[in-house]
Amino acid sequence: MAQLNGTLIITGAGRGIGAATAKLAALRGYAVAVNYVANDAAAKGVVDWIAAQGGRAIAVRGDVSQEADVTRMFDQAQAAFGPVSALVNNAGVPGRIGRVEQLDLAVLKRTFDVNVFAAFLCAREFVRRVSTKNGGAGGAMVNVSSMAAKTGSPNELVHYAAAKAALETFNYGLASEVATEGIRVNCVSCGLIETDIHAEAGDASRLQRYATRMPMQRAGKPEEVANAILWFLSPEASYVTGATLPVAGGR
Ligand code: NAP
Repeated sequence: MAQLNGTLIITGAGRGIGAATAKLAALRGYAVAVNYVANDAAAKGVVDWIAAQGGRAIAVRGDVSQEADVTRMFDQAQAAFGPVSALVNNAGVPGRIGRVEQLDLAVLKRTFDVNVFAAFLCAREFVRRVSTKNGGAGGAMVNVSSMAAKTGSPNELVHYAAAKAALETFNYGLASEVATEGIRVNCVSCGLIETDIHAEAGDASRLQRYATRMPMQRAGKPEEVANAILWFLSPEASYVTGATLPVAGGR
């Protein structure tokens, strides 16, 4: 296990990109709060894996679009491991694949709740606790976006694409706002990554269908995104803030 690296909260870390990031972060010495919303077994699997490697992690169930859950998540992480120093706003939902004319208002609202409002709520709590202006020790944050923010994802996920575009503007604006307060804020823009999210959107086969259209002609692994996130969090990225890095096989 590497040198101790501080307390990291990763939202939506029970599965997919968040889970891969939690495992890599633990191997790099972070104590990790593994947030998730419903799948207890998956989150427990991540925490058990980390413990088996000699790392430190807790599972924190909570819906990050809810203010009270966000505050509790930070309190639990801090009580377990000490002051929070890093945050990955990874939790996201795609809504259902379909055209805008078919879109259900509840799906639209949920998409913005989890992809945008949750990131605001978590970032707000992070800045309150971590900004040097507020007496904190500083830290780093990474937001997890999608190349859909650029493509618009017509005929499929325009609602999701628009939410991720909002997240990227949030990333840039917040980074400038806290740039002199010891906090760096960056973003990864993922391409097609092999996770459950495609099935959740209603079409598991889109992963294979679109993969060959990417310049690298394959989908990415969650671990390949985790590497980029961990770099943003590390001191190696000390002069990088407000950036959005595509991790998208050439897109
Ligand atoms: P995933 O495999 O579907 O996993 C999503 C995770 O988020 C799960 O752990 C889930 O918890 C959690 N979650 C969902 N809603 C939540 C909420 N309200 N509060 C707390 N946790 C919540 O997703 P993924 O593919 O790894 O996606 C991770 C991020 O990458 C998302 O922001 C997504 O938009 C983005 N992204 C993914 C791709 C891709 O191709 N996979 C491409 C571009 C961007 P449970 O396990 O409890 O259900």
